[in-house]
Amino acid sequence: APVTPTLLYLDNVSVSFDGFRALNSLSLAVDHAEMRAIIGPNGAGKTTMMDVITGKTRPNEGTALFEGSHDLTALDEAAIAELGIGRKFQTPTVFEMHSVEDNILLALKENRSPFATLLSRRTARERERIEALLERVRLTAHRHRKAGELSHGQKQWLEIGMLLAQQPKLLLIDEPAAGMTDQETADTADLLRDIAKTQAVVVVEHDMTFVRDLDVKVTCLHEGTVLAEGTLDAVSANERVVEVYLGR
Ligand code: ADP
Repeated sequence: APVTPTLLYLDNVSVSFDGFRALNSLSLAVDHAEMRAIIGPNGAGKTTMMDVITGKTRPNEGTALFEGSHDLTALDEAAIAELGIGRKFQTPTVFEMHSVEDNILLALKENRSPFATLLSRRTARERERIEALLERVRLTAHRHRKAGELSHGQKQWLEIGMLLAQQPKLLLIDEPAAGMTDQETADTADLLRDIAKTQAVVVVEHDMTFVRDLDVKVTCLHEGTVLAEGTLDAVSANERVVEVYLGR
């Protein structure tokens, strides 16, 4: 069988802002259809790492390879999105005035005018994809509601559905559980575990209950580099991690 290279491979990536090292020789490998949780105190470099992967920030040193051959540090944000890397920020951005299913449809036809998209007849293939995406993000029962009427958690799921419409190979998600109820948090963990069966997911998260629900390998960043990596139990028992979180 052919050797499949690691989906995402950051190798000794450093980023400096006016001499301050936001990332300091950070290395990270994420496999195909793997979900990874990234934790770490404020200022650890989590956002900067996501910015490097999506091409928003260029590293001063190191390489970032996607599928073994694409050098992300040489590409702009649009080209990186085109490769199949989607990013979800903390605040959901949905079309509040449109129905849930129209939001999904608009995401499927991202490059066409919204007006033309909403007026045109849906093809059988589009209807099928909308069904599958609604199901995947648990919004089938809410399909005809205006997106603006959804709960905060449901809006997050809708936005995840809109990102999935682009069929990313890697989905980067920033604090999906922030502001969610306990039930929504648990449902989000389920939903992400399901997504990770087919595409890789990197989740930055502060909520340790949620990270525990995800039940995936955890990478703890501190001062721009990897402090510990492994199961949540192993990482949270790591002495250096304990010191960092307790601020000793
Ligand atoms: P995290 O997401 O883990 O909280 P960040 O990646 O946002 O950490 O930040 C890492 C460090 O880099 C912080 O000390 C932050 O102040 C600094 N930093 C981030 N972006 C910039 C920037 N554009 N200019 C200067 N410093 C920055």
